[in-house]
Amino acid sequence: MTRLSTYDAIIIGAGPAGSSVALALALRGWAVAIVEKSAFPRRKVCGEYISASNIALLDRLDIGDAWRANAGPEVRRVGFFSSETCVEAPMPGAKYGLAANDGFGRALGRDVLDALLLQAARSAGAEIFQPCRAVAIERDEDMQRVRIQARDENSGDETTTLRAPVIVGAHGSWEPGPLPSQLQKTSHPSDLLGFKAHFTGSSLAPDLMPLLAFSGGYGGMVLADHGRLSISCCIRRDMLARLRRNRSSGWDGPKQDGQVSAAEAVFRHLMASCRGVSDALDGVHLDGPWLAAGPIQPGIRSCYERDIFRVGNAAGESHPIIAEGISMALQSGWLLAEELARAPRGRAGRELAGRRYQAAWRELFSTRVHAAAVLARIALSPAGPALMAAAVRNFPRALTLGAHMSGKTRPIPGLV
Ligand SMILES: Cc1cc2nc3c(=O)[nH]c(=O)nc-3n(C[C@H](O)[C@H](O)[C@H](O)COP(=O)(O)OP(=O)(O)OC[C@H]3O[C@@H](n4cnc5c(N)ncnc54)[C@H](O)[C@@H]3O)c2cc1C
Repeated sequence: MTRLSTYDAIIIGAGPAGSSVALALALRGWAVAIVEKSAFPRRKVCGEYISASNIALLDRLDIGDAWRANAGPEVRRVGFFSSETCVEAPMPGAKYGLAANDGFGRALGRDVLDALLLQAARSAGAEIFQPCRAVAIERDEDMQRVRIQARDENSGDETTTLRAPVIVGAHGSWEPGPLPSQLQKTSHPSDLLGFKAHFTGSSLAPDLMPLLAFSGGYGGMVLADHGRLSISCCIRRDMLARLRRNRSSGWDGPKQDGQVSAAEAVFRHLMASCRGVSDALDGVHLDGPWLAAGPIQPGIRSCYERDIFRVGNAAGESHPIIAEGISMALQSGWLLAEELARAPRGRAGRELAGRRYQAAWRELFSTRVHAAAVLARIALSPAGPALMAAAVRNFPRALTLGAHMSGKTRPIPGLV
């Protein structure tokens, strides 16, 4: 069956970027459709930490109170765990210009955050197509058509076509697909694969978020909502393959194709590489299965191309070593909505909004993307973890400065 509905904008993907732009446009009276392939709530590979610089924006998106009520404890200290080194320093907070009562970031599970944002978009009037996958974008004079597919157990795939002049790619960057805004899949030994798990019963200090540096990767952990510890990391593809082979001999846990599972290999590597991790995870319980994603695709892309706008990871991605991806997703969605709303309708207006949005994106995010790339390169070099450990042991405040420089205290201009 084929139906055709027309909107002002169609948003593909309901992560923080997609819901943020949909919500901001719907609040301005735009007729918006969101297409999301997964049913919610769903967990996601992510550390789940949100900087305090977003709290004013969460309020403008009408989920500030729900976020405050649900998120984990305030993260007042930033840490560094590598081998035997465990160092901590103050997280930059209110004195760096953030509101005193909301001066610290907190972590909230993506199963909760993404559902809250999408529900707020629905309440603001956005129409949600879920679970539905966008499979094609085709030009239709001054409009574009988006073909979406919902899987029906009885009748097979049901196809619907939506039409709008504005299309926003908010589908992230980790999955390849047929849309012109989606990225190609890569497969190189140096690719970084993402892993994540929740645990209960951890002894990590509630106000501490340590960066983890280990051979072949980096990661982080933080206490999120409902007492869940969120631990996440990126690891090189070649290191993961080596760990799976090495662990298979003498290991009597679950194996696939004669190798231990990727998640088990990552978990054991983290436990063996960082004393701070093995101490914090002593006696914990796994809460839900390990998740894997990637490879991640850090870099800056075009924000507007072939009449499609991009937000969140689709527009540009920082290495998650600085835990700023949710900020960039939420904030880029808001920036795009502002530019679309103030530009005249029509093709010339879209071009103008695209140019202004791209300039605003680069002004706000380029520095942190580049800073994260430098930091990740150091962490991933053979001597990197030891070098970083020596540096922060001698100068713990480097952690505070690093958090400040990575954008953790930089809200969208005009939204404090
Ligand atoms: C290991 C790791 C740890 C991280 N830790 C943090 C952290 O602590 N803090 C932080 O701020 N950031 C962190 N990040 C980064 C953060 O997860 C991402 O930057 C963020 O999820 C990007 O949001 P997004 O909305 O752009 O994309 P996504 O969150 O990827 O959402 C995209 C959505 O689009 C949907 N979709 C995809 N294709 C289609 C399609 N064809 N049709 C319909 N729907 C589609 C997907 O199902 C998904 O729901 C981490 C990343 C990694 C890898």
